[in-house]
Amino acid sequence: MAERQKIVAGNWKMNKTFQEAQDLLFDIADQLDERGKGDVNVIVCPPALYAELATDLAAENDFAVGVQNINDHESGAYTGEISAPMLASMGVEYAIIGHSERREYYKEADEFLARKVRVALEHDIVPIFCCGEVLEQRDAGKQNEVVKEQLEKALFNLEKEDFGKLVIAYEPVWAIGTGRTATPEQAQEMHAYIRKLISEKYDEEVAESTSILYGGSCKPSNAKGLFSQKDIDGGLIGGASLKADDFVELIHSF
Ligand code: PEP
Repeated sequence: MAERQKIVAGNWKMNKTFQEAQDLLFDIADQLDERGKGDVNVIVCPPALYAELATDLAAENDFAVGVQNINDHESGAYTGEISAPMLASMGVEYAIIGHSERREYYKEADEFLARKVRVALEHDIVPIFCCGEVLEQRDAGKQNEVVKEQLEKALFNLEKEDFGKLVIAYEPVWAIGTGRTATPEQAQEMHAYIRKLISEKYDEEVAESTSILYGGSCKPSNAKGLFSQKDIDGGLIGGASLKADDFVELIHSF
């Protein structure tokens, strides 16, 4: 079973040209060299096109590389897609699965995401599984119900040993890219609830060793309040991961 870790993961989404990506990666590497990263596991998730660039740099610097999506098949006639074995062969160690943008724009449902999770694990790629409610669900007080269903359908079919390898990211959809962050208390409440669900499904040891990240407009000005919560192990960062200064500052926000 993986150890519970402090994690800061950057989701670049569909941003940066090759030159810009190179500059940002070098900037992050330089700043990590200068400031260190303590006991934080730093993960950079650029567009998959730049995986080789990132894994080459990651090998010399102390960060890991993830991607933002993965196909649910190992190989074959799936034009335009990228598989887990391909990514693993490039040194990619993590894959974001079930991000709300993929759920919304590409209609990815939990049963489908369950297959992506399995194929990633089969190739030693750690899924960073995203869950979270939309605004109407929060306003209707249904957030726990929604997150429970996402976890049950996509993850709770895994054996305990496999579940123990995952990272979970709670990302309330109303807080992603909106500048509106969940309060530390709202986030802590959901993280504690997720841990309770894991404990009920598996056991206390698995629940306590699972890293659960918060995502949604997390930035240097609000990260300390979030990361100091008992059940928040770090962040999945969108906008603020596109600036090296902000991203590295977040690494120093525990
Ligand atoms: C994300 O997309 O995973 C995210 C958390 O974005 P942002 O930080 O920009 O809200």
